[in-house]
Amino acid sequence: MIPVEKAIELILKEIELLGLEKIDILSSLGRVAAENIYSNRDIPSFDNSAMDGYAVRFMDIQSASNDNVSVLNVIEDLPAGYTPNRAVNKGEAVRIMTGAPVPQGADTVVMVEDTEKEGDTVKIFRETKQGRNIRRAGEDVKAGELVISRGTPVRPAEIGMMASVGRSFVSVYQVPRVAILSTGDELVDVDGRLNGGKIISSNSYTLISQVKECIAVPIYLGIARDTKEEIKKKLKEGTHADIIISSGGVSVGDYDLVKDVLKEIGADIRFWKVAMRPGQPLAFGVIAGKPIFGLPGNPVSSMVSFEQFIRPSILKMSGFKHIFRPVIDAVLKEDIYQKPGRKRFLRSIVSLEDGKYYVRLTGEQGSGILMSMVRSNGLTIIPEDGAGFKAGEKVRVQLLDRDFELSKEPGYPL
Ligand code: AMP
Ligand code: MG
Repeated sequence: MIPVEKAIELILKEIELLGLEKIDILSSLGRVAAENIYSNRDIPSFDNSAMDGYAVRFMDIQSASNDNVSVLNVIEDLPAGYTPNRAVNKGEAVRIMTGAPVPQGADTVVMVEDTEKEGDTVKIFRETKQGRNIRRAGEDVKAGELVISRGTPVRPAEIGMMASVGRSFVSVYQVPRVAILSTGDELVDVDGRLNGGKIISSNSYTLISQVKECIAVPIYLGIARDTKEEIKKKLKEGTHADIIISSGGVSVGDYDLVKDVLKEIGADIRFWKVAMRPGQPLAFGVIAGKPIFGLPGNPVSSMVSFEQFIRPSILKMSGFKHIFRPVIDAVLKEDIYQKPGRKRFLRSIVSLEDGKYYVRLTGEQGSGILMSMVRSNGLTIIPEDGAGFKAGEKVRVQLLDRDFELSKEPGYPL
């Protein structure tokens, strides 16, 4: 039995980046950029108006006020998307819309609220600072500037920036294809017949979804009966993937065949059993350079083991640097007793009250209680030594999601 930390270290040592691929920017959301992107242009590429108003020469309006109205000849109407035909000379103005290029000669835009149109002239009632309401070429991005660096996770803003600099394709790190096999004579898929001790293979569904949550590609191998032949056949199919996962059949029962099969198909088993609860019987090996995980069958063990070991592996393979869930300190709302020896990942409900994190358990913590995962948003981590914690003490909690920080109301007064 090895400590969790050691298991993570042994696993991540085997995980390498996959190759790169060039994809459409709209497909790159949630992926990691594998190249530095420099702008080949100024953005904006020309001086343009930040307001609807009048492009003028500052000299002509500099002391304008209600008592000293400047009257200018309007020589042109300039919507966004068009270029001016004429320069602005002394005593002239161009009616200009937001985003339209500032004409030659003009150095200031007066907003429409400070003006009044009268025939071919405009009255200006208020002085504006020189250069006001003009967005300068390159004020967002300068030509040659690094706008996205290699290793950046791609969000909508990055996609918009790539589009802005004229990039329709981007190099990203490939994401792993992850083969998933469920083992057990008792298992049927969700619409299978539930007679004679059968149960639904919920792990198939949680594992596929956990892989998807990492933006990787699940390949479902189905359910293997508890025979070496069938497990072997299906696991071999899985070796075409980048990561192979099986669930069930990895403890010490008569029908726990996965570990033997792993050896028989040529996997080099690096460890079996981790000092944790849930999830102790975890087998990890390497086959043809690919990581292969034998997860325990209990639904909570399977999910928690995936979280601790497989999620970071997938994220590392996909080019992410920050591969671990956030861990916070929270004030415990109840006592926790601990039998020393194994690190525990207790399904927990984290809340934020007056700016402080609090945590309580979801109740029954058995490794078959899938509702404990449904109820939880975090895993309270109890170290293997020590006798547990008392209510009011601080504990470390790994956050599975941060939706508890979302709100029905905006965070500012309405
Ligand atoms: P095992 O690890 O094969 O000994 O299975 C441990 C427990 O988990 C047993 O009660 C199994 O029925 C259950 N189990 C195994 N595989 C799955 C699965 N794919 N979905 C839901 N429960 C499972
Ligand atoms: Mg089994």
